[in-house]
Amino acid sequence: MKFLQPLLLIAPLTVALRLDRRGKVVYDGYKIFRVAPGDNIAAFEAQLESLEAIDLTHNHGHVEEEHFDIAVPPENLSAFEALNFTSEVLTDDLGVDIALEGELAEYPGLLSAAALPSLSWFSAYHAYNDHLTFLKDIQASFSSNSELITAGKSFEGRDIQGIHLWGSGGKGSKPAVYFNGNVHAREWISSKVVEYLTYQLVANYNNDTTVKSFLDSYDFYILPIVNPDGFLYTQTTNRLWRKNRQTRSGTSAIGTDVNRNWPYKWDGEGSSTSPGYRGAAAGDTPENTGIRTLGDQLAKSNGIKLYIDWHSYGQYILTPYGYSCTAAASNQAKQDSLAKNTASAIAKPYGTRFTTGPICSTLYAAAGGSNDYVTDVDKAEYGWAIELRDTGRNGFTLPADQILPTGIEIWEGMKYLFANM
Ligand SMILES: [Zn+2]
Repeated sequence: MKFLQPLLLIAPLTVALRLDRRGKVVYDGYKIFRVAPGDNIAAFEAQLESLEAIDLTHNHGHVEEEHFDIAVPPENLSAFEALNFTSEVLTDDLGVDIALEGELAEYPGLLSAAALPSLSWFSAYHAYNDHLTFLKDIQASFSSNSELITAGKSFEGRDIQGIHLWGSGGKGSKPAVYFNGNVHAREWISSKVVEYLTYQLVANYNNDTTVKSFLDSYDFYILPIVNPDGFLYTQTTNRLWRKNRQTRSGTSAIGTDVNRNWPYKWDGEGSSTSPGYRGAAAGDTPENTGIRTLGDQLAKSNGIKLYIDWHSYGQYILTPYGYSCTAAASNQAKQDSLAKNTASAIAKPYGTRFTTGPICSTLYAAAGGSNDYVTDVDKAEYGWAIELRDTGRNGFTLPADQILPTGIEIWEGMKYLFANM
């Protein structure tokens, strides 16, 4: 059987999380397993619930292998092991992995408007406000071909910030390349990679004719962190938070998955029924409204050539559709070959393997996601999602020394894609 809904089974859990003195969730001693649940999913669900295990899969499950990744608190490890599931250990201690991500580095900002930030930005993770400063600095270094943009506000009232880059045709004259990062708060590598791509476009426009041709052919709209409230929460309180921070009347549950909230095929397979998860109504998160409105505007002006929703982890290039495993995009064959060749380009620097294919048949059914909306409503030629490094060893807590290599390999893939799409 297809293993579509691991999240649904264990999402309603209330985990007794331990907090440190600063009120931050402590994951010391949590062990991460990749588990094959077997045929009796209901029994598996009940057992996990009693163990207070945290689901890390959240629809990053692998259909063909029927497994998912869970973090088991130290006090329940022996009880979990006694259940004798087929499993492998991905991480001996999640607390150690979080420590290995490194401290958030300081970013003082630049004194000179004309200078590019240092590549050392990609040697560490940074606080949310530093991401905004970095974006400002990038824009200032490329001021005649870029501007800062916002796509509405988050639930807590933060601007959803991004940058618009253009080339010789002038501002807003070409079809759009539209990138959204970090919609899932804990997927920190996604904003770093989106920033790396921005950096390469800006740094090389004036000295590399190929890069110049990308910006001369497309207007780039790049939003590294479209879920600022959730991202901030992963830094202050709970490293594994995924959703936004939306409260709703009638429930104490906080947070909606902005990427199950798009108003197209909403509420279908692969969107949870737990309170607030996909939203009470289609498109009812402020974050979705913001990025959707921008996409709709781009679609109406010069059209969307390429949309990519950036995620981790798993190493996948995912094409439409998520809502159905039988629906196919009208240009599916072209999408398949572009995705495969992009994966080959990504593999060049370090041999990192990316799997390619439609979301539903490759990974999971996921209704209410961005790709389907952008493809069918906004008529984007290519509406993709990319799941970055790794395949589970470090998962969401990718060590800081992998930020730059991840950026480098993805830039190789994007250079292929921009030139051939
Ligand atoms: Zn994600």
